[in-house]
Amino acid sequence: MNKAQSSKPATRSAGGNTLAAKLGRLGLKTDADLILHLPLRYEDETRITSIRDAQPGVAAQFEVAVIDCEIAYRPRRQLLAKVSDDSGTLLLRFLNFYPNQQTVLQPGSRLRVFGEPRGGFLGEEIIHPRFHPVTAEEVLPDRLTPIYPTTAGLGQSTLRRLITRAFDRVQTSAALADTLPESLREKLGLQKFADAIQLLHHPTPDISLDQLETRGHPAWRRVAFDELLAQQLSLRRAYAARRQKGAPQLPGSAQLTTALLRELPFQLTGAQSRAWREIAADLAEPHPMQRLLQGDVGSGKTIVAALAMLQAVESGYQAALMAPTEILAEQHYRKLAQWLAPLGLDVVWLTGSLKKKVKLAAIEKVGAGETAIIVGTHALIEEGVEFARLGLAIVDEQHRFGVRQRLALKQKGEFAHQLTMSATPIPRTLAMSYYADLDVSVLDELPPGRTPITTKLVAEGRRDEVISRVHDACKSGRQAYWVCPLIEESEALQLKTAQETYERLVAELPNLKVGLVHGRLKSDEKAAVMAAFVNNEVQVLVATTVIEVGVDVPNASLMVIEHAERFGLAQLHQLRGRVGRGAAQSACILLYAQPLGQTARARLKVIYENTDGFEIAREDLRLRGPGEFVGSRQSGLPLLRYADLDDVLLVEQARAAADELLQGDPVVVERHLKRWLGSREELLKA
Ligand code: ADP
Ligand code: MG
Repeated sequence: MNKAQSSKPATRSAGGNTLAAKLGRLGLKTDADLILHLPLRYEDETRITSIRDAQPGVAAQFEVAVIDCEIAYRPRRQLLAKVSDDSGTLLLRFLNFYPNQQTVLQPGSRLRVFGEPRGGFLGEEIIHPRFHPVTAEEVLPDRLTPIYPTTAGLGQSTLRRLITRAFDRVQTSAALADTLPESLREKLGLQKFADAIQLLHHPTPDISLDQLETRGHPAWRRVAFDELLAQQLSLRRAYAARRQKGAPQLPGSAQLTTALLRELPFQLTGAQSRAWREIAADLAEPHPMQRLLQGDVGSGKTIVAALAMLQAVESGYQAALMAPTEILAEQHYRKLAQWLAPLGLDVVWLTGSLKKKVKLAAIEKVGAGETAIIVGTHALIEEGVEFARLGLAIVDEQHRFGVRQRLALKQKGEFAHQLTMSATPIPRTLAMSYYADLDVSVLDELPPGRTPITTKLVAEGRRDEVISRVHDACKSGRQAYWVCPLIEESEALQLKTAQETYERLVAELPNLKVGLVHGRLKSDEKAAVMAAFVNNEVQVLVATTVIEVGVDVPNASLMVIEHAERFGLAQLHQLRGRVGRGAAQSACILLYAQPLGQTARARLKVIYENTDGFEIAREDLRLRGPGEFVGSRQSGLPLLRYADLDDVLLVEQARAAADELLQGDPVVVERHLKRWLGSREELLKA
């Protein structure tokens, strides 16, 4: 790749097969990108091992002469080369090979071969070793060989050559200069950037392979810090920019909030009071609140939202609450209407499925400012809906909205205070890292009086027992959910299964009323079934995962999840959280089909052993890694390639450094972001 090519954006068309296209897939466009493309691991080719000392399963390098090379059919066509040194012989086996490989493997050729020997049918062998011809006295490399992440059709040797050349070109340029001020670097005891990067690409053999590969080496620490710093800088800068915007001050009068608190049949938990205080203080500020309210299922986020809405109303503004599904939005609506009616407040309900006339009337009310509290689905942010004076926008489970909807919300609520709520608890370092553009309030305490939920793992063969358990629970006045399997490939199939399960349960539980709810029902049908379940007119609710978030029916004490092995941890936790909301002893039965795969087994074990959402989230993070964990929220954010979020101290240091640099050192900020986000930002948007 020459200079001209390197500054030109690579085509990223799916079929693009030029070198630039392949590099583009890896996000490599410039010399600076290449230099930041760090090895996954290393191979030690600085030493030669005698064949006699070869150990099965331990990668090593041998210097050999080819004795014999043939194409064999046993039973598949393959290339076999017999090689030897002074101490013994080895077999090299290639199941795929090119004619030119065969040419190199001519009897008499001298080779260096690298790979993992194992005991084979014909003696010691290596399958698909790396090898290259050498002359008699060829010197050994004095550096470990880096193995880079790559893409189909781009070989290690090409990548290595490109990176080495990039290094040669940038020796004196800014691409290797330190972005950190010297004082900061020294304070944190970090290596120089150029030293760290050089070392990681070309480590000398005296450096412990283990320290390199587990990324415990100080050079990795420098890189991880840089990356975390870039993430913090970009998110904290976005945070600061939004803070520059104006928003109405909503100090409230405490009149309505006090009245609501007095009327509630319960007291706020300590966590709720704390979150409420933080939110109340934000609302009084002249710039928009950017806060995330995080709390496990059942931790009581809704009442905190209601209090915030009332403070906006007290200050003469409107407040809107938006939820990702009709069922959830409707439930918020009911709850708020019930709480606010005694205060003489009207709640407007707005969703796409309303009859046209009703909907227009609702929109009219919102636009005229006649009504202060609005609850709905994304219908709230559709075109044509104009708020007279929106002061506060609350979004429940924001991650479940599409990108377009989130954008629309952003525009609509640009000058309003924003509160998002999430029931996905995430570990602290992850929050500190990925949510650095938000203030976070955490409800880390459940309301009192909840009885712990018993979780049972039951193989599918024992379904009859489960049905009789449902029967008993309902006969004693309780209710049950029966969640149908998630079928990711086909919504139609999922629907069919739900329908069949419903029919079967109707037949098997003749003296109970069974209801069915799924995503394809018309919203008034859905609402009717949910209302019947809330009123205990339906005892068993068969449901697809539409009930995943937020449904609150305290009398339900039994949750059955079919094919639990297909669900993710967060989902299982959410579903289980639908029960255990009243005083009755509750249970969650996870029906699973055998045989269980390894991950499914691990997941079920976690959910069986843990009830704390944060603990489950930590395990989930461990099983899935952070990228998948935080999902699509991060479009346009640097994915962390090298930093490990287990390192709390480093994340904290990066945050502190970011805030300091944003305060006083705009040049450093620019320089650092350019290096770490530079052309990657575009890749991430794709
Ligand atoms: P989530 O955080 O999952 O949205 P909800 O707001 O739906 O939780 O609250 C769950 C249930 O707990 C509701 O029935 C709610 O009325 C009740 N609740 C909330 N706060 C308290 C509290 N401090 N004491 C007792 N019950 C509470
Ligand atoms: Mg909720």
